[in-house]
Amino acid sequence: MAQFDLVILGGGSGGYACALRASQLGQSVVLIEQDKLGGTCLHRGCIPTKALLHAGEVADSSRHSSDFGVTTEFKSMDMPGVNSYKDGVVARLHKGLQGLVKSRNVTYVEGHGRLISPNTVEVNGEQYTGKNVVLATGSYPRTLPGLEIDGVQIITSEHAIHMDRVPASVIVLGGGVIGCEFASVWKSFGSEVTIIEGLPHLVALEDESSSKQLERAFRKRGINFELGTRFASATKSADGVTVTLENGSTFTAEVLLVAVGRGPVSANIGYEEQGIAMDRGYILVDDKCRTNIPNIWAVGDLIPTLQLAHVGFAEGILVAEEIGGLNPRPINYDGVPRVTYSEPEVASVGFTTARAKELGFDVVELNYDLAGNGKAQILKTAGSVKLVSDKSNGRVLGIHMVGARVGELLAEAQLIFNWEAEASDVAALIHAHPTLSEAVGEAHLALAGKPLHAHG
Ligand SMILES: Cc1cc2nc3c(=O)[nH]c(=O)nc-3n(C[C@H](O)[C@H](O)[C@H](O)COP(=O)(O)OP(=O)(O)OC[C@H]3O[C@@H](n4cnc5c(N)ncnc54)[C@H](O)[C@@H]3O)c2cc1C
Repeated sequence: MAQFDLVILGGGSGGYACALRASQLGQSVVLIEQDKLGGTCLHRGCIPTKALLHAGEVADSSRHSSDFGVTTEFKSMDMPGVNSYKDGVVARLHKGLQGLVKSRNVTYVEGHGRLISPNTVEVNGEQYTGKNVVLATGSYPRTLPGLEIDGVQIITSEHAIHMDRVPASVIVLGGGVIGCEFASVWKSFGSEVTIIEGLPHLVALEDESSSKQLERAFRKRGINFELGTRFASATKSADGVTVTLENGSTFTAEVLLVAVGRGPVSANIGYEEQGIAMDRGYILVDDKCRTNIPNIWAVGDLIPTLQLAHVGFAEGILVAEEIGGLNPRPINYDGVPRVTYSEPEVASVGFTTARAKELGFDVVELNYDLAGNGKAQILKTAGSVKLVSDKSNGRVLGIHMVGARVGELLAEAQLIFNWEAEASDVAALIHAHPTLSEAVGEAHLALAGKPLHAHG
């Protein structure tokens, strides 16, 4: 039986971040992974999808190059070429991560692990015991009752990232982040795309104004969507998949992407047997990610917090530091930056207007239209920066942005929210001209009562 300070089950964003930080703090660590180090984010999530989105951006740039006075001709997507570009990015990062884990003296074990006691995980007949155990087994793509994933006509994101052709038409079931990103990719690649979303808006967790702007932009791009009607059934034929909604309308496409959310990977790996408290498969933890069993911790998509890679990193680091005796501050989940990397991007941090009102704030809103921003004009992008603020003291409670590349503006937005800045604090800072970041500066200038390039 091998003994360690820390046994980590799952080598995705949450698990490997915990391993790296714990070994930095002098702990002996074993990291157990059944598939590939890096998990969903690196191999099936964040990285490959962003490479596909970038290929789509290049395709759109070549289609629309004459808008910028450049003559090119868009011929077609070369999917083997796109996939080799995407796989190359993933492979380089995977190699780098493997080197990093090795260089930090983390013991890496490949195989399917099972929790057999509160401090032991069994893999390939070997037992690994730790003073502490961190569960980081992540999540899987969900489907709906009666909707069987066949991997060819009815697929999930796991299949969509490996497509070797551009489907003529696609129905995307689910207008959340993953659904909107794939809708954006396929439209750029040349497919006919229809999104079906049961809620009244696309990216429904975002501020309503951001959802509406994304819907406007998608409509302009020719991405179709049906909102507020629920899925009823899907039938397959030689020509494709026909989806029927509860209101009786039907849609047919070559491929149906099911993007209705992700569920925790927590069944049949010993969690129930050890008495770990769970809710609908999610492991319940306190604000330091500790379960009801004192030496067992859980991080990432396995717990009911935001399913984002950077949240997994932060939770992994939090656990390593708590175990290491550093008494870190709990994570403020309201201050986590969120991005949908479609064209246009949707980015936010802090509270939506609706949430701020629910919390009892006397809310002031400020919308800065990107039309007034020089760089946005150069890029020919439309969108806005919206601020939600507390009328009583000018504190910025939420920042909501739509437009090309606005995800990059979150670096500043999250400092503003998390450092509890007031509009006047940000208005005093000089933003480089001409950058998109000026729109953040201009919005705060306007909120502080001294608008510069703003009409009205
Ligand atoms: C299409 C898509 C796009 C995304 N885009 C983004 C994005 O742009 N930005 C962002 O922040 N997030 C994005 N995400 C979410 C992000 O990928 C996840 O939040 C993140 O990967 C969660 O990390 P994790 O460590 O909790 O789980 P995972 O990354 O899923 O890792 C869990 C690991 O545990 C392993 N495992 C499971 N059970 C066992 C077992 N019994 N034994 C051994 N190993 C096991 C699995 O093989 C897996 O490698 C995206 C997700 C998807 C699906």
